[in-house]
Amino acid sequence: MAQIKCSRCQHKKEGLQEAPFNNELGQKVLVQTCDKCWKAWVGQQLMLMNEHRLDPINDEHSKFLDDEMVKFLVLN
Ligand SMILES: [Zn+2]
Repeated sequence: MAQIKCSRCQHKKEGLQEAPFNNELGQKVLVQTCDKCWKAWVGQQLMLMNEHRLDPINDEHSKFLDDEMVKFLVLN
């Protein structure tokens, strides 16, 4: 498994086993996010979903979560 340099924590470590989404954003997460920061985001996402009563099936909510994820993980 290749090492990646995580955009969020700046550490070089192992990335995820596979892209979490089957799209361009998923590929970015795969090459820019370590496993630990990904898990941190999963927790943060749950908090946001509860706080704002989000439904990921809702397109608008899903877009909001994508934007928050890009900020949280410092994807570029
Ligand atoms: Zn990281």
